[in-house]
Amino acid sequence: MVPAGAKGPTTALSSTVARLLLAAVVAVFGVTQLGAQVSRPEPTYEGDDRIEEWSGRRILVVTPHPDDETFTSGGTLAILAANGNDIQVVVYTTDNAGSRDPSMTKDRLKAIRRAEEEEACRILGIPKENIVWLGHDDGMLEYVDRRELTRQVAREIRRFRPDALFSVDPGSPYEQYHKSDHRSGAIITVDAIRAARWRLYFPELEAEGFEAWSVPLVFFYYSANPNYTVDITEVAETKARASAAHISQFGSMVDRYDPAAVDEQRKEWAARLLARAERENGRVVERFRRSTAY
Ligand SMILES: [Zn+2]
Repeated sequence: MVPAGAKGPTTALSSTVARLLLAAVVAVFGVTQLGAQVSRPEPTYEGDDRIEEWSGRRILVVTPHPDDETFTSGGTLAILAANGNDIQVVVYTTDNAGSRDPSMTKDRLKAIRRAEEEEACRILGIPKENIVWLGHDDGMLEYVDRRELTRQVAREIRRFRPDALFSVDPGSPYEQYHKSDHRSGAIITVDAIRAARWRLYFPELEAEGFEAWSVPLVFFYYSANPNYTVDITEVAETKARASAAHISQFGSMVDRYDPAAVDEQRKEWAARLLARAERENGRVVERFRRSTAY
């Protein structure tokens, strides 16, 4: 502990001067830009670079559970796949805890959810070989070593070198009230984007052969501040079928998983999901926060 009175008048004076100087510098140079970055939603994107028109590019999706990306971005991903883009999906967890079925086990649910994700991706036009499972337990992402988790995702970013990345928007109301995996996954993804960009964050990745990579463009789903809308009307039915492939997440299947009812339930839920799809001026849409700030 520093004894009382150890700080002399000269030190106190210079520290006050330093604080005043810093405040002046921030006021003159930083506050407008900083304020815009921190507190204001990014404006609606009105440029010409429409991702739904891309072809031959690399798209990385980083999702907490095998279904979040289908429900939020399935239409956009179906368009991107049809346009000949290379899409890779990294899934943080196995989703092996979200069932109330008294006879369900974690291992069985893990296998069910894996098969469902593979089927959903197949419907969207993404081969199952393009799914990378990080394999963490459902609901437990916050208890995984964060440094290791960030390195895992940074490694995948550096391996795949995407032109655009889709993930959960950190800090949206959905995150505030929803699952730990969403909160944690959202933050880890943006930290990993940064760690992928700066070679000295994880020098060992470079030693493994994964060079630094700057992700130029990020699309956040589950966003409270969307600024980019994709018209998915033409693939809305495809998205509904892909979403319904995750049938163990719906209705009575959560309480009692019945393999014999899978096909019929998928059809029913696909129709229901299509009817409920978000619309704007009669068109089915998906909304994202498009950002180049990461
Ligand atoms: Zn989820």
